Amino acid sequence: MSALKPLILAQIAAHGPMRLSDYMALCLLHPQHGYYTTRPPFGTAGDFITAPEISQMFGEMLGLCLAQSWLDSGAPPAFTLAELGPGRGTLMADVLRATAKVAGFHAAARVCLVEASPALRSVQAQTLAAYAPRWLDSAEDLPEGPLFLLANEFFDALPIRQFRRTGAGWAEVMVGALGDDLVFGKSAPLSLPALDSRLLETKAGDVVEYCPAAAPMITAISQRIAAFGGAALIVDYGGWNGLGDTFQALRHHSYANPLEAPGMADLTAHVDFAALAHAAASQNLQTQFTAQGPFLQALGIEARATRLAASLTGPALSAHLAAKQRLTSPAEMGQLFKVLGLTPAGAPPLAGFNLAMT
Ligand code: SAH
Repeated sequence: MSALKPLILAQIAAHGPMRLSDYMALCLLHPQHGYYTTRPPFGTAGDFITAPEISQMFGEMLGLCLAQSWLDSGAPPAFTLAELGPGRGTLMADVLRATAKVAGFHAAARVCLVEASPALRSVQAQTLAAYAPRWLDSAEDLPEGPLFLLANEFFDALPIRQFRRTGAGWAEVMVGALGDDLVFGKSAPLSLPALDSRLLETKAGDVVEYCPAAAPMITAISQRIAAFGGAALIVDYGGWNGLGDTFQALRHHSYANPLEAPGMADLTAHVDFAALAHAAASQNLQTQFTAQGPFLQALGIEARATRLAASLTGPALSAHLAAKQRLTSPAEMGQLFKVLGLTPAGAPPLAGFNLAMT
């Protein structure tokens, strides 16, 4: 039984229907009953499994990409190695293991983790104890200085607002109540400056999503990278100026009704990488964009997989080969998941991208 549902119904009774972003924020991060605050959601026993939990090779490839970028930028002797939403800390642990032999990298790195959930902070503290990480509440709190940053499946967890095109404006999708049930409704037509550019490529009835927290975070990260150097790698599922309703709930590895059990299912939406790239380009950063499969292939995942396979047999070998397939195959994560790379104007391109965009 969802402990959050009566609280949400009471809030709607008092103030009227709420935006999807307010509903999502309550479900994911409510201090007592939020999804991330109350449970470890990852792994086969949880609700979903992420790339770093599928195979160590994911973090190894991302780590080598960042270390190469650090070398290419002249190996600054002190920098922040940051991750947004590190989950169980697996990705950062794999990055650090893979880069241990890059001379000077560990000595120069100060590990910073941006994490909202106290429960996950304590898991990360155990996984990363050897690296004495520092925790921050938000990307805006990242220290000044060169910044090398990772985020995997972070932006998809940020609350979105959703709108349906109505002629010259938009009707916002709202969460309301019908008796004891939560139901979707829509607002009176409105206009929103952040959606003006989308008026050009949509028609009546089209659904667009907008993540209000994403651009300020990318702006904060980009300002540091523009001023002090560094790079960011942002991996998530989504597309470029995506259209349609992508708001979804996952519970025990199956899709669920997102209004049914607030706080008990993972809620996400596809990431609009065009909005992230636009925010970075406004701070004069270079952007590179590709899909996860080609990215991992270009960084050498095949050679790494063959090397690891040499010491495996039986079910462990089959699991290893299946994991590589899952990360890279276009039929699995390889095409749906995308990678956005950010670097200062004029910096050498990041390894792993064949297609450069500015
Ligand atoms: N990157 C990890 C976990 C992804 S789940 C992996 O790939 O396995 C999303 C992570 O972001 C969780 O750690 C969650 O607690 C954190 N998170 C969600 N919203 C957040 C916010 N607004 N600020 C900081 N962390 C947040």
